[in-house]
Amino acid sequence: MSMNQVSSKMQLIDRFGRRVNYLRISITDRCDFRCVYCMSEEMTFLPRAQILTLEEIYTLAETFTELGINKIRITGGEPLIRRGALDLLEKIGSLQGLDELVLTSNGSQLDKMAGKLKTAGIKRINVSLDTLNAEKFRRLTRTGDLQQVLKGIQAAKSAGFERLKINAVILKNRNHNEVTDLVQFAVDQDIDISFIEEMPLGYVDEHNRGETYYSSDQIKTDLDKRFELLPTPEKTGGPAKYFRISGSTSKVGFISPHSHNFCSTCNRVRITAEGRLLLCLGNEHSIDLKRVIRANPGDKEVLKQSIIKAMLIKPERHEFNIKEQPIIMRHMSVTGG
Ligand code: SAM
Ligand code: SF4
Repeated sequence: MSMNQVSSKMQLIDRFGRRVNYLRISITDRCDFRCVYCMSEEMTFLPRAQILTLEEIYTLAETFTELGINKIRITGGEPLIRRGALDLLEKIGSLQGLDELVLTSNGSQLDKMAGKLKTAGIKRINVSLDTLNAEKFRRLTRTGDLQQVLKGIQAAKSAGFERLKINAVILKNRNHNEVTDLVQFAVDQDIDISFIEEMPLGYVDEHNRGETYYSSDQIKTDLDKRFELLPTPEKTGGPAKYFRISGSTSKVGFISPHSHNFCSTCNRVRITAEGRLLLCLGNEHSIDLKRVIRANPGDKEVLKQSIIKAMLIKPERHEFNIKEQPIIMRHMSVTGG
């Protein structure tokens, strides 16, 4: 049996021998925020007929699970503003063979939804939070309310979510001077935090990515002045490197698509809101699974074969250049960060 075939244990393995067991699904490209690094102020979202229906998303989750995917992250856009999201999560959460269903959210709906998400079987939640200053928060998200997100974080803690994690995108001269405050917040709240380097995904107006690039190495240097960061051996198969903060239970992660190479252990693929299976965040290699589903209603075998074949085009590595206009024209909200 060749490397890219499904083995008897149903595994997806690409032509570089990497096992793919982690799927991220963007369940909507829409969002109630307009973060400057992610979207333009005026966005044209996809027409409804072009995005996957909830049933199609479920079929994909089920099929991938049968092919050995054991971790699914639901993201967007803002996943919690899609009508029917909770029911969908509950159904995906009960799929056989799925070990972890996790969520990335901007936190705006957590205040009212955290308890229901826990019941639906979500294991962990990542909440995006780039600043603790309300005015800056409004400027960075254009529409967001910091208090609402902080209330959401408290609601998630009260609902019993363990190891909540903050995701913070750090931009030079916008929020880079807040990295220590954000880590202190994580320590005080007994949660984890990851810093993300900005990626050149999709055109955004009023924002020059070359000027705002702030590397993980710079953030780590800033943090070393205040905290003792102890390396952990944790491996995620992704671009994150983790440190434990001495004297606390919190961890700090650095997600560095530019400065560190992680492609050789990449274990993940993504499904965009419009149903494209994306083999690499930094390349356009993809397969239109929505077309396959709609052309072959109810035929899971055809779908499985398409997914297995797609492993043949998973690229070996990505290249990003933050100083140039994006060669990847899809926004992170379509792709699912
Ligand atoms: N709306 C949810 C949220 O903000 O958490 C989920 C989707 S959002 C696209 C997922 C993550 O991608 C967020 O943590 C966000 O900060 C990050 N993100 C968006 N655009 C990015 C970019 N151009 N470079 C790096 N990270 C980005
Ligand atoms: Fe919305 Fe998340 Fe993009 Fe911000 S990062 S605009 S919250 S999808």
